Amino acid sequence: MTLCESCDDAIVCPMDPILYSAVPLDRAHHLRRDDAAIGALVRRPDRLLVPLWRDLSLATPEGAVMPAGDIAARLLDLAGVTVFLGLWAGRPVFAADLSEAEAEPDGTPPRLGPDGAWTALKAVGGTLPADHAAILAYGRALVLWHRRARFCGICGAPTQSREGGHMRQCQDGTCAAPHYPRTDPAVIMRVDGTDEAGQPAILMHRQKIWAPGMWSVLAGFVEPGETLEEAVAREVREESGIEVAAVRYHGGQPWPFPSSLMLGFSATAIGGTLAPDPDELEDAQWFSKARIAAEFSDAHRTDGSGRPFLPRPDAIARRLVDDWLLDTPARGG
Ligand SMILES: [Zn+2]
Repeated sequence: MTLCESCDDAIVCPMDPILYSAVPLDRAHHLRRDDAAIGALVRRPDRLLVPLWRDLSLATPEGAVMPAGDIAARLLDLAGVTVFLGLWAGRPVFAADLSEAEAEPDGTPPRLGPDGAWTALKAVGGTLPADHAAILAYGRALVLWHRRARFCGICGAPTQSREGGHMRQCQDGTCAAPHYPRTDPAVIMRVDGTDEAGQPAILMHRQKIWAPGMWSVLAGFVEPGETLEEAVAREVREESGIEVAAVRYHGGQPWPFPSSLMLGFSATAIGGTLAPDPDELEDAQWFSKARIAAEFSDAHRTDGSGRPFLPRPDAIARRLVDDWLLDTPARGG
């Protein structure tokens, strides 16, 4: 738990990028509509490939595995779709969907990279170099979007990849609608209030599907016709019965599982009665700093002790909690 080294300000700081953000590529937007330029880039022997096989990325504990040279050429032959991600120190980087490659007879992923390197980004993202994790997340988001956008949502005709993979166009001559990659906004919010003893406390909850012992802040998708601030207030009200005000933005986190952008907020409880929605939450409680210090494990997973624990340090949920634990001020407040 440290303050930002650049500005000594809050944990959620634009100078202190969060996991999956700060993609270190020049996205080279101007090249996307230049098919000849993209074609030349994908043939360059020094181009790097970011493969995705079904839901798995290629990475070892040391970092992402991004093949180049002849290996990349072979993988490109197998790719269902390729996306120009940008230039990394001048080298072109492409995401490639290899999902059509058959699994091995024993059900393991195809041997298209180092043994054992196909891995779930969500499981290893926090252990990778930050720039590698960001590139894998960026590539994954685009490949997953392509899989979901193969047909036009307007007329149902097939679509084709365009603009280096940053657009798909409907192939019906009359419709010809362009479709762009989706990013679905979700709000995640720390609610500041008081516990039964009147001590400053934050509202955290548990969901049945979570690992036993994990507690976190509330979150939910933004609905059409509401602002982010309204989404925060509505989600808190629906899930916990608590009314909030003073909604403040803290920072965001790309979350390509499959296509979310997590938008972190704090809010102040101003009324209502804590009544967790049993359809949504297993439990919700107020936690003071003293209670967290006394009851919570330092681990961010089940450590066998039966003690509760907070989300992983690389998740925005944890940053929102850590900001409060450290008494750092809200940004923009
Ligand atoms: Zn169409």
